[in-house]
Amino acid sequence: MSRTAFLLHPASALHDTGWGHPEHQGRLRALSSTVGRDMLALHDRVVPMVPGEAELDDLLRVHTRPHVDTVRDAVDQAARRGEPVSMGADTVVSAASWDAAVGSVGSALAAAGAVARGERANAFVATRPPGHHATPDRAMGFCLFNTVAVTARWLQHHGHAERVLIVDWDVHHGNGTQDVFWRDPTVTFLSLHQSPWYPGTGARSERGEGAGEGFTFNVELPAGTSREVYRARFEEALDEAFEAARPDFVLVSAGFDALAGDPLGGLLLEPEDFHAMTRAVMARAERTGNSRLVALLEGGYDPRRTGLASVAVLRALAGVEPADPTLPAGAG
Ligand SMILES: [Zn+2]
Repeated sequence: MSRTAFLLHPASALHDTGWGHPEHQGRLRALSSTVGRDMLALHDRVVPMVPGEAELDDLLRVHTRPHVDTVRDAVDQAARRGEPVSMGADTVVSAASWDAAVGSVGSALAAAGAVARGERANAFVATRPPGHHATPDRAMGFCLFNTVAVTARWLQHHGHAERVLIVDWDVHHGNGTQDVFWRDPTVTFLSLHQSPWYPGTGARSERGEGAGEGFTFNVELPAGTSREVYRARFEEALDEAFEAARPDFVLVSAGFDALAGDPLGGLLLEPEDFHAMTRAVMARAERTGNSRLVALLEGGYDPRRTGLASVAVLRALAGVEPADPTLPAGAG
């Protein structure tokens, strides 16, 4: 039986944005300890996997050379100064950020490769920094490199997939991912996000252009949308996106800032919703006859609840029921 892989690159937890920053180092520590506690329930179904490293060529399939150099220079500057350096607005790097970003991309590629070769059924990659706001030539919204976009391109480049579907349920619109595949009918992008909200893009009318028209799907949800309405809109949009994409590989931009109480979001989801949503994606992928799926962490700024939602996704991927929400965190 091929099992679910869990990956977390050790450098990711060292990316230091400062403790006052919402995307701080404690996010992954909380996630890994919550997942670690749940491994008792998951031990024969979820296996840790050694992360990989990305090559420059992998990044350049999505990003411009000047962008890659700008990130590298900012990280070098942070190393020389011994303190975090701002890359504009809210995006900050430290001496460890290059290794964290490249390690996160490399881990996603390692996971995608293992799933593509049938060595693993599916995978969850706890990436940090997040990636979906990074455009081909710009870091933004805490994101340096667009991990999910690089992974889609890598799968295609290596002949592992022809048609990829990216499902993005982070509370923020995945503007960077949308930009990368805007004119591309081979990678379908579906984003559900709070609107109006950062970064301001993601209107329903944004559907792609040229050959890519009809392969971008945006679902705008007002703050305070109920779980029931969210889940119904999610299922409906998934059906449309699967029909357009006919994917042979599915990637999920799994942000958990749509959880109720997240400091950077105003939606109301609970960890068990992410279990159901993962199952909904898996069920449709199985119907296409190709269930290959890799989920990557994006946002999620309540560290404890982000950990619980990560466990919910892992359990769904592994075919295990959700944890009982009435038990204390991490139990069962
Ligand atoms: Zn987000």
